Amino acid sequence: MKLEEIPVEVLPGVGEQKKEALAELGIHSIADLMGYFPYRYEDYRLSDLTEASHEERVTVEAQVYGQPSVRWYGKKKSRMTLRVQADGVPIQVVWFNQAYLKNRFRVGQTIVVSGKWDRHRLQLIADRTFLSESEKEKVVGRLEPVYSVNSKIRMNWLRKLIHTAFTRYGRQIEEILPEELRKKYKLISRASAMYYLHFPKGKEEGRQARRRMVFEELFLYELKIMWLRRFHRQEVKGLVHRFENEKIRAFINQLAFPLTGAQKKVVSEILSDLREPIQMNRLLQGDVGSGKTVVAAIALYANYLSGYQGALMVPTEILAEQHASSLKKLLTPWNLQVVTLTGRMTAREKKDALGQIQMGLADVVVGTHALLQETVVFWKLGLVITDEQHRFGVKQRAMLREKGEVPDVLYMTATPIPRTLSITVFGEMDVSTIDEMPAGRQPVDTYWVKKELWPRIIRFVQKECARGRQAYVICPLIEESEKLDLQNAQEVFEQMAMELAPIRVGLLHGRMSSAEKDEVMRSFANNEVQVLVSTTVVEVGVDVPNATVMVIYDADRFGLAQLHQLRGRVGRGGGKSTCVLVANPKSETGIERMRIMSETTDGFEISRRDLELRGPGDFLGVKQSGLPDFKVADLTHDLRILEAARTDAADYVNRKDFMTSPETRPLYEYLCAQNLTQTSFD
Ligand code: ADP
Ligand code: MG
Repeated sequence: MKLEEIPVEVLPGVGEQKKEALAELGIHSIADLMGYFPYRYEDYRLSDLTEASHEERVTVEAQVYGQPSVRWYGKKKSRMTLRVQADGVPIQVVWFNQAYLKNRFRVGQTIVVSGKWDRHRLQLIADRTFLSESEKEKVVGRLEPVYSVNSKIRMNWLRKLIHTAFTRYGRQIEEILPEELRKKYKLISRASAMYYLHFPKGKEEGRQARRRMVFEELFLYELKIMWLRRFHRQEVKGLVHRFENEKIRAFINQLAFPLTGAQKKVVSEILSDLREPIQMNRLLQGDVGSGKTVVAAIALYANYLSGYQGALMVPTEILAEQHASSLKKLLTPWNLQVVTLTGRMTAREKKDALGQIQMGLADVVVGTHALLQETVVFWKLGLVITDEQHRFGVKQRAMLREKGEVPDVLYMTATPIPRTLSITVFGEMDVSTIDEMPAGRQPVDTYWVKKELWPRIIRFVQKECARGRQAYVICPLIEESEKLDLQNAQEVFEQMAMELAPIRVGLLHGRMSSAEKDEVMRSFANNEVQVLVSTTVVEVGVDVPNATVMVIYDADRFGLAQLHQLRGRVGRGGGKSTCVLVANPKSETGIERMRIMSETTDGFEISRRDLELRGPGDFLGVKQSGLPDFKVADLTHDLRILEAARTDAADYVNRKDFMTSPETRPLYEYLCAQNLTQTSFD
């Protein structure tokens, strides 16, 4: 029988109650139990006291010299001391509230104690004591696994249970990785790796065990992705778009600027996907300002030429309107009808738009998630594009995709994700990257200044406005309870309005109605207002080329990706632009972040360093990230292994004899057991 099929109740001591308690931890079978790895180890290997530093945790062997003396503080609290000699040093061991040990010491006896070493007082504050040989044997000299447990399960009981499982069933653990791979990376066997992950004798053994299991975990994950991809490519019939290259070329030649090399490259990748009878599932990433909109327009045009409708979904109303207006400029001359659909259109306007969409009069529909409503029925949807795709959940993406039969899908994002990470998060997608900025773009000068220089910043803004330029001043949302010098956008606004008069200052914040927000945005876009004080609403996508100054107050409260997005709001016109980060960061990381921002304007470089600082979960926001929950692997450190695993996985699934060869049979069986008929998995 397979270990997956043997229930934990076969082990001694697992009755109905324990069975349920284990189930709460996700442990049902012997395989689950063996795969329930510790999250850390307690080190009970003997240390040398003469080398231990102050306050270090140590485990020492000691000879008892005297008799313990106990002092009581009330009925329950006690302090017991005992003179011993350890590593040739006479020291005192101190136990708090463990007076029950009092009668168990004899002069000359060798005991082992673990605890915190007070080097100055030559005292060891003991938290664990091993007196008998049998107690010593079990733990001393080892790394003891620490598991996450619930209130119904004691740690020691679980340790023993896992140990028993290995004693009885350890030999039945089957290898899953092909011999070839194990040789290539010098990986120890699955059985030893699993055992040593629980019960390593030393660091090296633990390291080898972990390396092997990390590889296995990432390899199997990538294998699933590669398998899905292969399946998707071979089985899902996508729309075939037919359009003439000549017409696309004419469109491109009419643009106000030549495409960058990177834009040309991604355009041809996208157009070739459109032509193929496969369903496009492509991520288009490019830094803020790299020119994704025009790429989207070209794809929408090709889709239109093929006789289909296209949809562009964006996260906010302001953005929907901006996109609609830039797409109109690009597409109306070529007779495309661009229609907007947002949540706050009047019932009448909506009805109108819906009618046009359903009858096929609308060639391109731009909207917020209002596009997902059931009432939206397309005549013939052939291409779906989402902008800032990480803001939409996986489910919303799927809903939009289901609006047509098998429309091609393009996800655009300006959050640059390091390649290694994107292949995990967007594993089953193809990725196109615009890694080049349009010519003539000047990088935004970035300065980090302390809050004390605020008056000078105000003068700087004043000077820029006098030259006809405009400025953004961004403030983070701040909880009411926090008392800071300038508390929120409202206060910054009032102060600036006063000091900058007659320069006109506008205020934009999250509690305003959409209509009010739009009004303010519009007057800023028309240069009726020169300075816009705002919470992060301008973060995404808006385009005001005349704005050349970006001041970010309390900049250390923002993530790097967000700061980068905000900075991308300026430097869009020809003028030299400046970003001022105002912050008095308290933490090392805060300081490091400000440094990174002032040193580079390359979004990929920033995201790489952000990833180092924060780890992938935080980096993308755990909920949004779509990152699988790995048991052993940690993507902050194991990205290199992930890359290797991915290459190998691709190689294996594409082998002709993958399903039949005895070497890869366990892998194929693993895939079959995974229920890969659903397209999502974790
Ligand atoms: P993003 O990738 O951030 O969405 P946009 O598509 O908004 O960037 O483009 C930013 C600005 O750059 C727009 O004003 C656009 O017209 C301009 N632009 C795009 N491509 C080019 C190019 N190849 N040469 C010059 N300007 C370009
Ligand atoms: Mg954009």
